[in-house]
Amino acid sequence: MVSMRGVQKWFGRLHVLQDIDFDVASGEVVVVIGPSGSGKSTLCRTINRLETIDEGTIEIDGKTLPEEGKALAGLRADVGMVFQSFNLFAHKTVLENVTLGPIKVRGTKNAEAEQRAHELLERVGVANQASKLPAQLSGGQQQRVAIARALAMEPKVMLFDEPTSALDPEMIKEVLDTMVDLAERGMTMIVVTHEMGFARTAANRVVFMSDGRIVEENTPEQFFTNPQSDRAKDFLGKIL
Ligand code: ADP
Ligand code: MG
Repeated sequence: MVSMRGVQKWFGRLHVLQDIDFDVASGEVVVVIGPSGSGKSTLCRTINRLETIDEGTIEIDGKTLPEEGKALAGLRADVGMVFQSFNLFAHKTVLENVTLGPIKVRGTKNAEAEQRAHELLERVGVANQASKLPAQLSGGQQQRVAIARALAMEPKVMLFDEPTSALDPEMIKEVLDTMVDLAERGMTMIVVTHEMGFARTAANRVVFMSDGRIVEENTPEQFFTNPQSDRAKDFLGKIL
C-alpha cells in the first residue's frame, strides 16, 4: 500500500531522511518509534506530500506520488492524517468538520456526506456532539472527531503522528481504543507513538528510527524483548 525506495531528504544541511526503504502492506499496522528529532514526523509528512523529498520514490497503492497538480490531490486524499494537535476547523461544527472534505474534494452530495459523517461519529463514539464546535469538546473527543474526519475521505492508509501526546492521561485510552478498532477493521495504518501498549496489541511491526534512518524493524514482541541495535536498547531503556 505504501512503498518508499531510496528516499533522501535534507533540511538545509540536516540529512533528515537517509536512504529510507519502507514498505507497508495492505491491512498492516506499523508503529514507528524513535527519539525526538529522528525524522518520524518528516517521514509521515513525505507520505502525503506535506514535505517534498529530494531523492527516491514513494508509491501509494502502486502509484508514484507526483510532485504536484490534480493527480497529487487525488493521491493525497488516499492518505488520511491525524496529528498531535487535532487541527479541527474551529469555526465549523463537528459535523461540518467531517463533511467538508468529502463535499469539497470528493464531490460527495451534502445529504450523503452528512449521513456518512453521522455513521463515522457514531463509530468513534461522539455522535451526540455533532452540532457542537470543537472547543466545546474534550481533547479526546476532538481527536476522535479528527479520526472520523480523516476516515470520511475513505483513505487507503491512515497516518497517525503522536495522536495521544497532547491528551490528558484519562483521554488517551479512548483514542487508542478507536485506533485499535480501526486496525481490527483492516485499515492500513502507520502510527508514530510511544504508547507501547498500543504497539504490543495492535502493531504487526515496529520500525525504529534514529538520526533519519530506519535502524531496526521487527515484530513488537521481538523488538521490545530483544532489541538488536545499541540505539534501540538505549532508547527502550529510557522509555520503558
Ligand atoms: P521527530 O518527529 O522524530 O521528532 P522530525 O521529523 O520532526 O522528528 O524532525 C527531524 C529533524 O528535522 C529535527 O532535527 C527537526 O528539528 C528537523 N526539522 C523538522 N522540520 C523542519 C523544517 N521544516 N525545517 C528545518 N528543519 C526541520
Ligand atoms: Mg514528531
